Amino acid sequence: TLILGIETSCDETSAAVVKNGREVLSNIVSSQIDSHKRFGGVVPEIASRHHVEQVTYIVEEALETAGITPDELDAIAVTEGPGLVGALLIGVNAAKALAFAWNKPLVAVHHIAGHIYANHIVDELTFPLLSLVVSGGHTELIYMKDHVSYEVIGETRDDAVGEAYDKVARTLGLPYPGGPHIDRLAQIGEPVINLPRAWLEEGSYDFSFSGLKSAVINTLHNAKQRGESWSNEEIAASFQASVVDVLVTKTLKAVEEKGVERLVLAGGVAANKGLREALTAACEKVGITLTIPPIALCTDNAAMIAAAGTFLFNKGCLADERLNGQAGLKLE
Ligand code: ATP
Ligand code: MG
Ligand code: FE
Repeated sequence: TLILGIETSCDETSAAVVKNGREVLSNIVSSQIDSHKRFGGVVPEIASRHHVEQVTYIVEEALETAGITPDELDAIAVTEGPGLVGALLIGVNAAKALAFAWNKPLVAVHHIAGHIYANHIVDELTFPLLSLVVSGGHTELIYMKDHVSYEVIGETRDDAVGEAYDKVARTLGLPYPGGPHIDRLAQIGEPVINLPRAWLEEGSYDFSFSGLKSAVINTLHNAKQRGESWSNEEIAASFQASVVDVLVTKTLKAVEEKGVERLVLAGGVAANKGLREALTAACEKVGITLTIPPIALCTDNAAMIAAAGTFLFNKGCLADERLNGQAGLKLE
């Protein structure tokens, strides 16, 4: 199966060609970070405009790099949601237009399913498995008993982990997106500040990161009054230690309770060095298989959409010309 994937849910325009759900023949990503940086976050109207300007070229480049012609494609898979509605609409309409022009089936993919299926490109998924999804808009523990079957057993009650990283980074005066900067500083500093960990009720797999974000802001504020001074490296390391501790502890508890032997990490924050290392060590200790995608497949890309789309296509789950972008699309 040869699938063309298209992803435009946020601030990267991406197109990819994937063979049999696993072999990436091309994965072109055009990032808009430079256009949004001066605003300190993604500006929806600017994102849509970029997608409109880029999407045709990116699709052409994906086909060219893969060395295939449109008639060789089996289907076109596109991100239906969740994401910025104006951004999603550009990808969805591009996919519909191409499906019509080339007479190809259309497949609608959930963005988070895409993040999870990035792992299938690395190592064929086996079930049951547990997936820890950590991204700019999501923090979820998902149980999968089979392909394209999702049970969300825990999720964030407030900020997503990536959002918390970006907000803390902003407080420290670091550029957007702040996650990679905090990660880099955390490697240098020591976690000397004792920041809170939101465990929530006994047995809950939900997460909460807004209290931690406030604690960082308060620590900075109080330090000024008390004449203490923490370096950015120390703050970053302390914040990251708290995040990683909660994520790893809750995930391993869920692994144990669900009795799975496979864990996959997904989403933009899966690029985090501290999290990758801590999760790798914890999984080794209990003897379960862990898959973590390479950085380029952690952040938004169309190869992951094509990979997830392949399973939907093979199951006969097709979309039609009524397909629309869904900003709040649910996974289950
Ligand atoms: P969603 O996938 O939930 O719709 P999104 O697509 O905007 O949201 P992703 O592109 O998957 O999110 O991830 C982007 C997020 O990942 C940003 O918040 C960014 O700061 C964070 N991030 C990227 N690299 C790192 C890193 N090394 N450490 C921590 N966070 C990181
Ligand atoms: Mg992004
Ligand atoms: Fe994403």
